[in-house]
Amino acid sequence: MIIDLHVHTWPRSQCSNIEPRELVARAKKLGLDGFCLTEHQVLWDLEEVRELALDQGIRIFRGNEITTAQGDILVFGLEKDIQGVVTARALQKEVEAAGAFSIAAHPFRGFKTFGVGQLDMNLEQASQKKVFKYVHAIEVHNGKVSETDNALARQVAELLGKPGTGGSDAHLIQDLGTYVTIFEKDIEDDAQLLEELHAGRFSAGVNPD
Ligand SMILES: [Zn+2]
Ligand SMILES: [Zn+2]
Repeated sequence: MIIDLHVHTWPRSQCSNIEPRELVARAKKLGLDGFCLTEHQVLWDLEEVRELALDQGIRIFRGNEITTAQGDILVFGLEKDIQGVVTARALQKEVEAAGAFSIAAHPFRGFKTFGVGQLDMNLEQASQKKVFKYVHAIEVHNGKVSETDNALARQVAELLGKPGTGGSDAHLIQDLGTYVTIFEKDIEDDAQLLEELHAGRFSAGVNPD
């Protein structure tokens, strides 16, 4: 099952231009089985998501992208909006208490531009980035970062033995589905998505269409 695990819509994410309704049509056209709404710090209302998905043949899931002092973290199964910047460690506590799942989003976004010191960062140093201590998985295919950034994330995930996910991080409709997460099983709702994430039955990929 092919799911774009990282999508932003307007107005819940003010930085996005995507109308939720056009997302459904686009996802169908691209041959995605579903997508996950991961707005910044805000979780969609379940009823609204059900309405949006109604009879459309597309599965829509709900996550949340939380800003932490150590970087953005995608969370699934956390029925709570986290406001303000928190630490990755504090978020991990919430995640564990709720049985939720967390993914370090685009962990090396723009790492080449941080400065000379970062340019020399080797794999060992990269893997010691704090955020990785507090997440279950790493986003290794993110549609908004460079291939260099993604490649480093993939190497680090492998080194740390953490599973990798993919998502477009779409803020524009044409960005939807650039990267996806391919799940082994058919997934119907948020609870099953959470189960499959915890079971590790997925891999990062590119939409075959
Ligand atoms: Zn982000
Ligand atoms: Zn995002």
